[in-house]
Amino acid sequence: MDLPWLGHAFTTRLGGISEGPFATLNLGYTVGDVPERVLANRRLLAAALGYDPARTVAGRQVHGEKVAVVTMREAGAGAFGPETALDATDGLTTGEVGLALLAFFADCVPVLLADTVKRVVAVVHAGWRGTAREIVRRALEVMAANLQVVPARCVAAIGPAIGPCCYEVDEPVAAAFRPWGEKVVWRRGNKWRVDLWEANRQTLIAAGVPPERIAVIRLCTCCHPELFFSYRRDGVKTGRMAGVIFRR
Ligand SMILES: [Zn+2]
Repeated sequence: MDLPWLGHAFTTRLGGISEGPFATLNLGYTVGDVPERVLANRRLLAAALGYDPARTVAGRQVHGEKVAVVTMREAGAGAFGPETALDATDGLTTGEVGLALLAFFADCVPVLLADTVKRVVAVVHAGWRGTAREIVRRALEVMAANLQVVPARCVAAIGPAIGPCCYEVDEPVAAAFRPWGEKVVWRRGNKWRVDLWEANRQTLIAAGVPPERIAVIRLCTCCHPELFFSYRRDGVKTGRMAGVIFRR
């Protein structure tokens, strides 16, 4: 599908200036990296994609299900430091031209959404809690209620995240995914495996997004240390990739 009005990306760890465990394109302010380097990396990304680094919005992600509708009034929130990020927000949506929505990841699932008729865009941070709470459905509901979005007109992309190859979980997490069935959660030895990509895909379909309009990148962040930061693989001292989407 050719959508020249739509700018979007999932980043890798390549192409930035951060060092050590944050090498090189760390985009998260809250992980212990030098703030000036994070800002420089944010500027590199903005220049590469063609948006103004000051006209971005980011939320303080809490594995909740709040999806905020934002406009140019919120431009700059979370852009130059974590203090100004929108409080307790794991999803962002807008219809504004030139306002880039950012969310940050190191194993959690980034989901991008766009209504190709209304030209409304969204980014969603879906960890296991957000995925189990169907935050992507919540995003579509907020977009529909506030911005006249119709799920059937939406395209979606599910980005790099920890895959079922590496996402071994205990019973309490597995139990949260039982409603999705055996394509999403299955037993391996005395542990469980969960496919967060598939859970989000199924939730999008159930919410009305046509399956042929959903792209699943199917790249595991934990399996690819050369490409991605991974919380499960590297622990707390690692960087953050971004999912970004905006109207040109
Ligand atoms: Zn893997």
